[in-house]
Amino acid sequence: MTGTPRSGHAVVLGAGIAGLLTATVLTKHYGRVTLLDADRLPNTPGRRPGVPQGDHVHALLVGGQRALETLLPGIGAALRQSGAVGVDMGADFLLGTSCG
Ligand SMILES: Cc1cc2nc3c(=O)[nH]c(=O)nc-3n(C[C@H](O)[C@H](O)[C@H](O)COP(=O)(O)OP(=O)(O)OC[C@H]3O[C@@H](n4cnc5c(N)ncnc54)[C@H](O)[C@@H]3O)c2cc1C
Repeated sequence: MTGTPRSGHAVVLGAGIAGLLTATVLTKHYGRVTLLDADRLPNTPGRRPGVPQGDHVHALLVGGQRALETLLPGIGAALRQSGAVGVDMGADFLLGTSCG
């Protein structure tokens, strides 16, 4: 679309990770992108009812990080600056079948 004026209006429902990334891509193709969510989105990371899984630790695998970097260059560094920690899944994790 280089050189072509962007027009049209895209609407994305849901501002979870999928909606946010979809909106990111659509901004390259549409003149206007509106992202709607049932929650009022906070300005800083935190809990909200629409993403209850946000309370759980989330791991971003290398393939996903590479994909994110193509859309949002520098996001890996930004995540680390915001508190994300790098782990070696083979060395830093202890997996077991009992809790005793
Ligand atoms: C316990 C747990 C652990 C997990 N750990 C990992 C992990 O380590 N690594 C990993 O990659 N994934 C993990 N996942 C999966 C990951 O959390 C999901 O795949 C991911 O959050 C899905 O993102 P999404 O944007 O598709 O949906 P969601 O995160 O569910 O976002 C949906 C959005 O839509 C909004 N919405 C809902 N209904 C409406 C409506 N009617 N109108 C407007 N807005 C609406 C919600 O408010 C929300 O913002 C885990 C999941 C769970 C439950």
